[in-house]
Amino acid sequence: MSEETKYIPDYFGCMVFNDSVMRQRLPKDIYKAVHKTIKKGTHLELDVANTVAAVMKEWAIENGATHFTHWFQPMTGLTAEKHDSFISPTSNGQVIMEFSGKELVKGEPDASSFPSGGLRATFEARGYTAWDPSSPAFIKDGSLYIPTAFCSYGGEALDKKTPLLRSMEALNREAVKVLHLLGNAAVTKVDTTIGSEQEYFLIDKDLYKKRKDLMLCGRTLLGAPAPKGQEMEDHYFGVLKPKVSSFMHDLDEELWKLGVPAKTKHNEVAPAQHELAPVFETANVAVDHNQLTMEIMKKVADKHNYACLLHEKPFEGINGSGKHNNWSMITDTGENLLDPGSTPAENMQFLVFLIATIAAVDEYADLMRISVATAGNDHRLGANEAPPAIISVFVGDELAAVLKSIEEGTDFVQSEKKQMEIGAHVLPHFTQDTTDRNRTSPFAFTGNKFEFRMPGSAVSVANPNIVLNTAVAEALSKIYDRLSGVSEENLKDEVNKLLKELLAEHKKVLFNGNGYTDEWVEEAERRGLFNLKSLPDAMPRFIEKKNIELFEKHKIFTETEIRSRYEINLENYVKAIHIESLTLQEMVRKDFTAGLVKYMKDVTCEALSKKKFSDAMKCTYEEKILKTLDDTSEKISSQLEKLAEDTKKAEGIEDMLESAKYYQATILSDMDELRAAVDAAEAIIPNGYLPYPTYGDLLFSLR
Ligand code: ADP
Ligand code: MG
Repeated sequence: MSEETKYIPDYFGCMVFNDSVMRQRLPKDIYKAVHKTIKKGTHLELDVANTVAAVMKEWAIENGATHFTHWFQPMTGLTAEKHDSFISPTSNGQVIMEFSGKELVKGEPDASSFPSGGLRATFEARGYTAWDPSSPAFIKDGSLYIPTAFCSYGGEALDKKTPLLRSMEALNREAVKVLHLLGNAAVTKVDTTIGSEQEYFLIDKDLYKKRKDLMLCGRTLLGAPAPKGQEMEDHYFGVLKPKVSSFMHDLDEELWKLGVPAKTKHNEVAPAQHELAPVFETANVAVDHNQLTMEIMKKVADKHNYACLLHEKPFEGINGSGKHNNWSMITDTGENLLDPGSTPAENMQFLVFLIATIAAVDEYADLMRISVATAGNDHRLGANEAPPAIISVFVGDELAAVLKSIEEGTDFVQSEKKQMEIGAHVLPHFTQDTTDRNRTSPFAFTGNKFEFRMPGSAVSVANPNIVLNTAVAEALSKIYDRLSGVSEENLKDEVNKLLKELLAEHKKVLFNGNGYTDEWVEEAERRGLFNLKSLPDAMPRFIEKKNIELFEKHKIFTETEIRSRYEINLENYVKAIHIESLTLQEMVRKDFTAGLVKYMKDVTCEALSKKKFSDAMKCTYEEKILKTLDDTSEKISSQLEKLAEDTKKAEGIEDMLESAKYYQATILSDMDELRAAVDAAEAIIPNGYLPYPTYGDLLFSLR
């Protein structure tokens, strides 16, 4: 990009078929129709699509595109695309560039090789992609990308976008009903807003390529700790290294061109760990943009000779990466429904939405946990670096006092906002926030939104938002049912009564203390909260009657879709650990053992030649090394055998849940034991003998 075009507003979204491009290029009536579809969620007619397609094609070609692709999010957690060129041969041997409304609206990729959890027999391979006009099309690498939903021949959702859109509709429906009931008649639509903070690691690409575990599994399966870890707390918010800074700069630029509002960047807690946060957007667009962000991060990293690691736990003993999901609801009149205003205790509308959210999270805590369950994320949750696997809600001191006054029926006395006293007069004066932050809570109220901190860095944030939207829709629906029919003069009293009841029922989920302690684990158990530690522990809750009923009632998933997702989640978990087991076995058997044997041989030769030189040589050090390594190799060898045998056994288990449980209980612990033995040996073998770079190399190599 040339220097003159560097002014961000000039190129932000230059690769996006956004509202301003549409307004400029579409005929007025067509623009209005599309705008209405996007804003109101109404259906779009084919003749409108035809015109949009023609204009979109012109714009795309002008901007260098030769192809178009329906871009979708199958159950792999990644995105998928199949590119078609715009060319259409003519009778005189030439081509014209074509793109019809039908091609824009519908695609028919062969769906047989995407996970479907038994939804589709392979002979019914047909799948459909359907244009999602609410997420703007964009150009990347010479192709026009059209965000689409993906479903099977029978119409079942095979992706993450479809249920997300359904959940946004459900929340919209229920929220608008409640707002009208509360007298806020101007609102006609409520959207969910999401800002997802993305954590990631950067590793030197040449080092990365020497690690099979990172290449195949995204995380290290071996590696003795480096002498230095994150204990100095010197990386968090630290000065950006020049090369890293230049990577971040390029990343921002690429994202801005694609209309992704990248806003914040900084170093994270662990060495080589960083974060990017965008400005929040409507849930659907935010989820698409997060997928794009992850992809562009990897691409830009590659250009800068880095590998970008998005795995939740790339390094043992070092903090893993998450993806904080900031969530709120906004009306088409511009009101953030979770904004308490200056006097929250008197803000009935806010309290209703706040308490509905608390009730939803308590009622469907199991689903919230499941929404972030993956083989990778299981390493993070409950490991004192991320929230525990227990779902609880933090509201902060002021709101806790407001809620208490509602529950006890007492008056809430608003405390004076305090001026900050920093103690030096040159510093600016500002008012103190009414509450401190709580970093240990999985679901924290942070001023005017909730921050769900459990999602892992690698996954699509669609899942947690599907659950959250649906659970809150259900809580609002119950509130509506209770309050509809109440006369206007009784409304306030009835609302108060209802909120009081809801709090009494759901206050068990509220917790303002330190979520990382053992006391909390015990306390949570006393309160009857779930502590679903691993995916196989959590998954059966997905097909509990109450949860199936929830999804069916709000038309998010049919029971068939739920059962297919249940299978897919278990299957993905099993496959991930299976690959890890095979990778670890290969790394130890082929690569590590060669280094170990060679080193032992060299030490032996060294000792022998010393003895040859003089019988008086004691060779104490050599003997010690050999003895230790000999003992360790025995352990390595027997553990390797055990892992191989157990993995064979695992392959024979038919039932998916049984299989997942076995991988969790047996394979993971076999892997841990093998790793412990190998790492102990690694710690005394010189680097030159090791087949792969060490933790020290990987974590402290950034410039
Ligand atoms: P912190 O690290 O303190 O949580 P960040 O600024 O890194 O703060 O991230 C906060 C995220 O929350 C940003 O992505 C921001 O856009 C998002 N956010 C702010 N307001 C809302 C809202 N109303 N709805 C959803 N997300 C929001
Ligand atoms: Mg945050």
